[in-house]
Amino acid sequence: MRSNLIKYWIKEELADKKLIAAFKKIPREKFILKEYKKDAYSDIPLPILANQTISQPTTIMMMLKALNVKPGDKVLEIGAGSGYQAALLSCLVGKKGKVYTIEIIPELVKFAKNNLKKSNIKNVKVILEDGSKGLPKYKPYNEIIITAASPEIPKHLIKQLKQDGILVVPVGPLYNQQMFKITKKKNEIKIENLGEFIFVPLRGRFGWH
Ligand code: SAH
Repeated sequence: MRSNLIKYWIKEELADKKLIAAFKKIPREKFILKEYKKDAYSDIPLPILANQTISQPTTIMMMLKALNVKPGDKVLEIGAGSGYQAALLSCLVGKKGKVYTIEIIPELVKFAKNNLKKSNIKNVKVILEDGSKGLPKYKPYNEIIITAASPEIPKHLIKQLKQDGILVVPVGPLYNQQMFKITKKKNEIKIENLGEFIFVPLRGRFGWH
């Protein structure tokens, strides 16, 4: 249940007030296929179209907490999927902010656009492209989040971040990745490991072939 998830996150300090407010505002069931709606608030990943998945709520919260999005920020998400995580990001950046989300599968671009429209979300742009290259057109970003497993730390994407910008990305072999939070400091790059996760593979030029 929705309230059980919230209680768990507060107890474990996995989500702050802003994240919980966003989670309450966005109906997850609207981003899920009909046959899985009963599991919308179970803490499990669910299949969406084209053999892809929407991540489990706790994983989403952990990634968003690490990303530390502030109102007015410009955020890039790589892997739009259902559009759910982009919808949460839309709440976090607020009216003055902007979210760009890239998706490589046309069917899912349509799915994400529709789901976002149904939830009346306007500050998210869904783009059909290979996101492994990032989105240089609208750089620099305050934050970049990759919701698919990258074979390596995508150094080329750090260039698309502003100074003090944050990149959150699962990195590693296909069935077991480490989640990295990478902060672009003035003269260095800080890398923190947030633990082990499993994601669908990132495709495209800098992804898995
Ligand atoms: N964030 C999504 C879940 C994403 S699942 C949500 O909230 O529902 C990962 C997604 O990344 C899949 O939809 C997959 O098609 C997409 N993907 C994989 N490689 C990609 C690439 N190179 N560029 C853009 N999207 C990619």
